[in-house]
This record gives sequence, structure tokens and C-alpha cells, in this order.
Amino acid sequence: MQDTLEQIHAEIRACTGCRLHFGRRQAVPGDGPPNAKIMFIGEGPGFHEDQQGLPFVGAAGHFLDELLAMIRMKRADVYITNVIKCRPPANRDPQPEEIEACRSYLDRQISVIRPHMIITLGRYSMARPFPNARISQVHGHARKVDGILYFPMYHPAAALHQPSLRPEVEQDMRKIPDLLAQMDSMPDSRLQEDARQLTLF
Ligand code: SF4
Repeated sequence: MQDTLEQIHAEIRACTGCRLHFGRRQAVPGDGPPNAKIMFIGEGPGFHEDQQGLPFVGAAGHFLDELLAMIRMKRADVYITNVIKCRPPANRDPQPEEIEACRSYLDRQISVIRPHMIITLGRYSMARPFPNARISQVHGHARKVDGILYFPMYHPAAALHQPSLRPEVEQDMRKIPDLLAQMDSMPDSRLQEDARQLTLF
């Protein structure tokens, strides 16, 4: 049967797939239209997200709203979710086994929404398209994989804690409209890799 976003969200709200369900007030599946062209993936819910059941509603979320406004976009235009859907105790970093336990939800959200562009916020969501990369080196550089343009950015909370990062975050955000417009003409990393493998035979 075809997955729907509502069905995935309902499964996440009832999920007991890792220990994080013990401490949550509520799970935070994601928010936005099912046909969004742009998907943002952060790390995990914080205090306010856990209270409200919505992603990016705290200080970092307000900054994300400001960043979206810079490119004439608003929340209702994009889908926002996180790598893990339940708040870790004291907002600690997600653990590898928690990310793994939650991975299939994110995979299903991506395959249902089929966004043109995925913007990863912070190092945990960046690891999907850029394994073993350092965010200080790859942020602001797009990579097309299987028809989706991945674009890593610093997490907005990082720029709030470290104001010197703010100009870089704003600069990266301003690249998004042009990247979306040009993505059809950009090479696909997966196709390039397949072609490289074929030449080895
Ligand atoms: S973090 Fe993900 S896998 Fe863990 S309980 Fe929440 S929804 Fe389930």
C-alpha cells in the first residue's frame, strides 16, 4: 500500500523504537506540505518542540523563519523534520543507535514527499549525503544524488550560539533559489559514480 505522510506521522507519534520514547512528552514527526519542493532536516526536537509536537518552534526556529524570509519563502512552503523525532534528555546529541532506529521514518518521508532539494541543518543530517565530511568544509556546497539536490548548512542554533557563523549561514541560505533553478543542469553524483564503475570493466 502507498505510504502517506499522515500515516508515517501517526506511526512516529506511537513509536517506541528506541529509548527516547521514555522521556518524550510527544514525538515530533515533521511539518509542511506533502508536495514541498524543499525539505529541511535538522537534528532532533528540543524543549519547545517536545512541548508543541512541532519542529523548529524555539529560538532556532525563529531564526530559520528569518532565513526563509530572506529568500522570500515561509514555513508553509517547505517541509521540516529532524533526524530523530523524539527529544533526547537535556538536549544531548543523538546517539548512533537512535539515529539508526529512526532512519526508516526519514527515508519514508523523503520518498513520499520527493523534494527537489534537501537542506541538512547541522552535522547529523549532513552525514546522510556527505558521510565522513566536516561541516566547516562542505557547508554551502550542493551535491545531487539520485535526482535530489542535497545542500548542507550549519544548524541555525549553532549560529545563535556562535554569532561569527551567522554571515556564513545567511550567505548559504541566499544560494538556495539559484541552486533550485539550476539543479536540472547539475551532474548527478550517483550517475557519475556508476559511469566511473562501468569504465573499470
Ligand atoms: S526517536 Fe524515532 S525511533 Fe526513537 S522512539 Fe522516537 S520516533 Fe521512535
